[in-house]
Amino acid sequence: MKRIRIAVVGLGKIARDQHLPAIADNPAFELVATVSPHGDGVGGVPHFPALEELLADGPAVDAVALCTPPQVRHDLAALALERGVHVFLEKPPGATLAEVAALAGLAERSGATLFASWHSRFAPGVSAARGWLADRQLQRGSIRWREDVRKWHPGQAWIWEAGGLGVFDPGINALSILTEILPQPLFLCEALLEIPANKAAPIAAQLRFRDTAGAPVQMDLDWRQTGPQSWDIEIETDAGVLKLSDGGARLAYPGGAASGENREYAGLYAHFAALVERGESDVDVRPLTLVADAFLRGTRRTVEAFED
Ligand code: NAP
Repeated sequence: MKRIRIAVVGLGKIARDQHLPAIADNPAFELVATVSPHGDGVGGVPHFPALEELLADGPAVDAVALCTPPQVRHDLAALALERGVHVFLEKPPGATLAEVAALAGLAERSGATLFASWHSRFAPGVSAARGWLADRQLQRGSIRWREDVRKWHPGQAWIWEAGGLGVFDPGINALSILTEILPQPLFLCEALLEIPANKAAPIAAQLRFRDTAGAPVQMDLDWRQTGPQSWDIEIETDAGVLKLSDGGARLAYPGGAASGENREYAGLYAHFAALVERGESDVDVRPLTLVADAFLRGTRRTVEAFED
C-alpha cells in the first residue's frame, strides 16, 4: 500500500501530544514535514516556517493535518485543497460556519479529502452510548464540562480572542459527543455567556437545548473549576439513565458499561486514511452550529477580568 505522505502544520500542544505519536503508530502514514512559525520542528523531519514554503520548496505531500488555532485554519486548508492535498482539520473545523462550507466546496471540486475531526467522538464509551440510545426515548439530558483553564490552556492567547471560542473550545467536545449519540437533532433555546472584562471570549456559559421531540438538555460550562474536573454527560431515558464520564472514556447504563484506554487519535487517523482511500470527505458542522447559535442567541454578561 502506498503510504500517505503527511505534514503536520502548527506544532503546538495537540500536535506534539497526539498527532505526531498517532501518525508514527499508523503505517498508512509517513510524516514528511512539519510547519510552524517558530522552532526547528522535530528530530530530522524537514521543517518550514509557513505552509506556502513547504508547498513551494519542500518534499511532496499528499495530506496535511492542521493543528493551528482555528482563526488561521481556513486559509491554510484552502491553500492545500487548491493543490489537491487532503486536509485533516483539528476541531473546531474553522472560526465561522461559512468558511467551513467554502472548504467543503473546494474539496469537492479538487477531489481531495476534507476531514473535520471531532476527537471526542472516538472516546471509548461513545459508540456504545450511541447504540444504546438509538431505541430509547430521551427524557432529559445534562452536561457538566467544568475545568481549570490555567491547567489546560496556559499561555494560549488565541483561545481568548474572537474566533478562539473561550470555554466552548472544550465545550464543543461535549457537543460533538451529544450530536453523535442522541437519536434526535438538538437545537438551542437560550444561553448565558459570561465574558471576562479583559477578554473577547466566554469563561463560562449556561445553555438550554431541546431535542426535536421536546426533551430538555442543559449544559454547564465553566473554566474556573479548581480541584476535581468534570467532563460528564447524563441522559435520562424511558429505560433508565446513561452516564458518560471523563470526556466519554467511561460509560454506564442499565445493564451495561464500557471503558478503555484513550485511543481517540488512533481512531481519527484510521478514519482519515479510510476517507482518503475511498476518495470521500467527512464534514459534520453540527457541534460548531450549536456553538455559533449560542453566540447568536445568547445573552452576554461581563464578569470580573481574568488573568491567566
Ligand atoms: P497551541 O499549543 O497554541 O498550538 C498551536 C500552534 O499553531 C502553535 O504552536 C503555533 O506555532 C501554530 N501556528 C499558529 N499560526 C500558524 C500558522 N499560520 N501556520 C502554522 N502554524 C501556526 O494550541 P493547541 O492546544 O495545540 O490547539 C490547537 C488546536 O487543536 C485548537 O483548535 C484546539 O481546539 C485543538 N485541540 C487542542 C487540544 C489540547 O489538549 N490542547 C485537544 C484537542 C484539540 P508556533 O508555536 O510555532 O508559533
